[in-house]
Amino acid sequence: MRKIAIVGAGQAGLQLGFALLRAGYEPTLYSDMTAEQITNGPGRPVTIQFGPSVSFEDDLELRFWKHSRYSEIQHVFFSVFSPQGEKLMVIDGEFDKPAQCIDLRMKFGQWLDEFEKRGGRLVIEKCDTDSLENMATTHDLVIVAAGRGQFMEMFEKDQSKTSYSEPQRQVAMFYTQGCDMYRQLDDMPGIRDKQLSRYSVIAGVGEVIKAPFLSKSDEEHHYVQFEAVPGAGMDMFDNKADVAEQYAMGKEWIRQNQPLIYELIEDSETTPEKEWVCGRIPPTVRKPVGTLPSGKPVYAVADAAIVNDPIVAQGLNGASKWMGLLFDQIVAHGEKEFSAEWMQSCFDEYWETAQYNLKFTSTALDGPGPVQQKLMQAASQNQSLAKKFVNCIGEAYKFHPWYWDDKEADKLIAEFSV
Ligand SMILES: Cc1cc2nc3c(=O)[nH]c(=O)nc-3n(C[C@H](O)[C@H](O)[C@H](O)COP(=O)(O)OP(=O)(O)OC[C@H]3O[C@@H](n4cnc5c(N)ncnc54)[C@H](O)[C@@H]3O)c2cc1C
Repeated sequence: MRKIAIVGAGQAGLQLGFALLRAGYEPTLYSDMTAEQITNGPGRPVTIQFGPSVSFEDDLELRFWKHSRYSEIQHVFFSVFSPQGEKLMVIDGEFDKPAQCIDLRMKFGQWLDEFEKRGGRLVIEKCDTDSLENMATTHDLVIVAAGRGQFMEMFEKDQSKTSYSEPQRQVAMFYTQGCDMYRQLDDMPGIRDKQLSRYSVIAGVGEVIKAPFLSKSDEEHHYVQFEAVPGAGMDMFDNKADVAEQYAMGKEWIRQNQPLIYELIEDSETTPEKEWVCGRIPPTVRKPVGTLPSGKPVYAVADAAIVNDPIVAQGLNGASKWMGLLFDQIVAHGEKEFSAEWMQSCFDEYWETAQYNLKFTSTALDGPGPVQQKLMQAASQNQSLAKKFVNCIGEAYKFHPWYWDDKEADKLIAEFSV
């Protein structure tokens, strides 16, 4: 069987590794951290993972946390507020398949152990170009799944696919406890049986995203994520300062400016470990095929090639679907050489849908235009349309063409009005 080297044991690397292992390949996974270091290391972004992506993990029998109510989210509320705190509209809908939301340290730590238990070869090493060169002599294919900001010199920025030259948000995601996701929903019978995400857009200022997740101590925690438009009111966090103080400052801003959002977080505080992720992420697409000094090609996937701002959760979800496709492409390629041309054609096939992940993200970053506003208004008054909207987020290519085309938008609204 063919030998495949995968650099990076995050969502992409691990998921692909498990799929290859099950199909009889000999994947070697290179991780710069042991399972213990991942589990006890600094907090990673907490990600909401939608049904289509979760299905890959069901299929690979990797959802060890399924028993816990706190690991899933069934229903999402999108609310739009004016900068003065007035609620302008709400779209809410239930996911066809629940989303998953868990501490990724727990997930990847357990997966790394499981990878070895299932017979996978794991090498703990912080890889560099020389390591890739060695792998390329002993493996048929080298995949770089080392995440954002790694091996950038090897994968050139693709200006034709990159829409921004600067980060579009300051992102501050706090691990918290004590949020109340059910405030203002007393008129919805049965809603307390569900786990909810509450997504608040503050027009021109940014977004505040709140969702429950399963912590590594098996409790319900919540992440509160500020997506601040640079220079606008919420752009205030200092990633070198004390986490609890930064959260208190963020909360105070919400209390003064957005009382309805504040009701959900007023009793919350940062978790005792004081975890957060804070920074500015330039959305970037890189050319996925890199060339080693020897001339051998290597293939960058997931965040190593495409980085989205996390505003509408397209990063890990995209990585997961990409690895589902790449596994099929590797199997279909049989015994043929994994050439640079093959890598590029695999990427081009993924791009057919992935471009809509970026387009959906850009629309959220730029703020909805007239077509999207019309659709959102209609969805706020039509539960079926709202449900369609909510379920497209995990498969953003399904927004095409109606989310960006006036006539198609009218057609869709008319269909849902009968
Ligand atoms: C604040 C925030 C919130 C987010 N929220 C969401 C969300 O809700 N939904 C969503 O879909 N996405 C979200 N994302 C994006 C998501 O986290 C990433 O898109 C996803 O984790 C990328 O997966 P990956 O496998 O490419 O990289 P990673 O998960 O980053 O994994 C890369 C791995 O490679 C290892 N590594 C790095 N360098 C080396 C090396 N030299 N040698 C060996 N190993 C190495 C790292 O230790 C790491 O374990 C969010 C991102 C941020 C910053």
